[in-house]
Amino acid sequence: MDRLFIEAVPILERIEEAGFEAYFVGGSVRDYILGRPINDVDIATSATPLEVKGIFPKTADVGIEHGTVLVILESGTYEITTFRTESGYTDYRRPDSVKFVRSLTEDLQRRDFTINAIAMDKSGVIFDPYKGQLDLFQKKITTVGNPHDRFAEDGLRMMRALRFVSQLNFQLDEETFQSLKENGPILREIAVERILVEFEKLLAGDNRIKALSLLLDSGLYQFLPQFAGQKEKLEKVLLLPLHQLTVPELWAVVLIQADMEDIEEVLRAWKLPLKSIRNVQRIIQLVEKEPGFEDSTFDVFQAGHIEAVQAAKVKAILEGRNVLEAEKSMSIKYENLLLKSMSDLDVTGEDLLSWHIKKPGPWVRKYLELILAAVLNSEITNEKAEIKEWLITCNLI
Ligand code: ATP
Ligand code: MG
Repeated sequence: MDRLFIEAVPILERIEEAGFEAYFVGGSVRDYILGRPINDVDIATSATPLEVKGIFPKTADVGIEHGTVLVILESGTYEITTFRTESGYTDYRRPDSVKFVRSLTEDLQRRDFTINAIAMDKSGVIFDPYKGQLDLFQKKITTVGNPHDRFAEDGLRMMRALRFVSQLNFQLDEETFQSLKENGPILREIAVERILVEFEKLLAGDNRIKALSLLLDSGLYQFLPQFAGQKEKLEKVLLLPLHQLTVPELWAVVLIQADMEDIEEVLRAWKLPLKSIRNVQRIIQLVEKEPGFEDSTFDVFQAGHIEAVQAAKVKAILEGRNVLEAEKSMSIKYENLLLKSMSDLDVTGEDLLSWHIKKPGPWVRKYLELILAAVLNSEITNEKAEIKEWLITCNLI
């Protein structure tokens, strides 16, 4: 067993000693069977949230109305969720009621895909009533039960299907794909924030090209923010290999390659946090700068290490160059800059004011930038006396 499971076994034991059942479930069991690295373990139990709280001294109610209690131990924190069924999804996104049940099989039945509906007990015995292992073996995404019903209950599952295609390099079961084609409009009912999480995981997955093609072929893209009617533009994204890029870099490539005009409007519609929007915008500005930003030490300095590297990677992808080489060479370029920040200059605004009769004003910053560019370009050295000399020669003071 993986170290993360072994560390959590005592938790299952304590729940069992109290007279209840407890299992590992969901993504960690799936990834473990696939031999993929696991990030966190989810635990499901027949004990109700109150009963779980009675077993462990330190807990937090993170989602108690859905049956989830956070158990806090010295070794870490664990989410423990009571077996439950969900019924009556009148608004296509939230179950009207959550019912706690004592049966593992019923709990597994409410899960989205067979590969996510596998449980494992403390000694590694697998419970797999919906044949998830067969689908893992055949590399197939299949809903637990009828896909129409399952997507009608929660439209987000359609996006999840495609993100698992991307992350795991799986095929979509044919019936599941057909259902995706018919149920796109349900996505309108889903909070954009939830769609964003799945879409970014899709973009970051190794098989994003396959997942993106399915997004376009199924028509699902029509119901994503700002993507309606943009099939031809979005298809251009499929022409690029998008490996080795982080999420903001992926956004930048997608938006540039698909000729999206108003970057801010698109990203706001997708509900990206403002900080991420600004990051993507700055990457795109750098990439589109003429002449190329990477040839100007001043531009590289202004971009800062992180964004200079991000932009260099995006440019490399768009121009069909090696991404890792572009990343490395930009990092070296940045490291070799003679200055890393304005405060590294040997002169300050106060120096300038003492050398000049002009009153303080925007000129001070402008002069500092001129000096900075001259030092960065090795036109002068970063020494106060030489800088003063240079300003006099240029008739600036
Ligand atoms: P990851 O490795 O990305 O965390 P995951 O499969 O663990 O993947 P989560 O979103 O963490 O995905 O959800 C945990 C489990 O909860 C899933 O494996 C699945 O069994 C169930 N689940 C999550 N979202 C849904 C949903 N919308 N409908 C039904 N079951 C879901
Ligand atoms: Mg998970």
